[in-house]
Amino acid sequence: MNILEFNNELLTAIAGHLTVEDLKTFSIVCHRFAIIAHDDATWREMLYNTFGVTYKLPKDTWKQQFERKCTDPKDNRICPHLGAVTRQSLEPYKAPYNNVINRKPPQHNCVICAQNHYDSGLCLYIYNGNNRIRCKDCAYKFHAMRPGRHGILLRIPVLQMYCFTCSRQLGESRGDESEEYYVDHLLENLTHDSELGRQQLVKRRQCMFERGLYLTEADRKSVLSATPCFYFVDRMWLWAWFLRLCDGKLAVEPITNKALEDEDGLLNRDARPKGGSTTAFSIVTPKLWNYLVQTYGLSGKAFQSNEIQGRPEYTKLWQSIDDWKLI
Ligand SMILES: [Zn+2]
Ligand SMILES: [Zn+2]
Repeated sequence: MNILEFNNELLTAIAGHLTVEDLKTFSIVCHRFAIIAHDDATWREMLYNTFGVTYKLPKDTWKQQFERKCTDPKDNRICPHLGAVTRQSLEPYKAPYNNVINRKPPQHNCVICAQNHYDSGLCLYIYNGNNRIRCKDCAYKFHAMRPGRHGILLRIPVLQMYCFTCSRQLGESRGDESEEYYVDHLLENLTHDSELGRQQLVKRRQCMFERGLYLTEADRKSVLSATPCFYFVDRMWLWAWFLRLCDGKLAVEPITNKALEDEDGLLNRDARPKGGSTTAFSIVTPKLWNYLVQTYGLSGKAFQSNEIQGRPEYTKLWQSIDDWKLI
């Protein structure tokens, strides 16, 4: 049979196995091949055959997702294993998820070690119908039993997804937007039958949003030029806030700026960015400061950079900011 007699479906499948260079050659064979080469379905095939990725942003074409993935050679922004998890494949996980989130005993104990690990995180190991509830340790052990398997872990109470092969959490603020979107879409499907599940998804989205804020609005060089001025925050509080976000949880306490206050109620002139034996501060933009005060409240005072600008008693504090080597 002559290749020119193949139907379009078969030609798309063949073209989907070509490299970008070979596809260009393929496209100049004839008009019909040119149409196949430019068809987005071909790029969908190429994305899967080259990288194993089967998801994209709704606004993008498959060709655009292919190009995005080409800029991710280390697989650290677009996990190729996540595509094996779909709305359909998650169906059997819905019932155990709901049992745990609603704390229906005895389901919220690990089936292997029988301990209750609700707060530290009960997990579902998403792989081919393995929908037993395990604690994190038992899930890791289960994964290690079969080398080469691409399991994904779902931490039920906080809705974090972890890819064992990529060794990272998926859909987080450092990942690609397409991965973030796809994880959110899967979690929405998993949680939408349960009131607590829906609430947890809202919290997860808030965590993602706040992590994004931290990355751009705190302890960066750009904060120094924030207008009208930047704010000082007790570093211990900010770190505790950020570490909780990484663990999928929101802060529980208002900003405690008392440690930055001297006996006259002014910013402690001995405060430094790095801490050690002295009081430590972080710096944040007004955007982040206002968000944090509105969301969590403030215990203590607000300290703004323009209040200490040009005051000789704060020369050393300003020097410490200059020496900070912010990026
Ligand atoms: Zn992965
Ligand atoms: Zn266990």
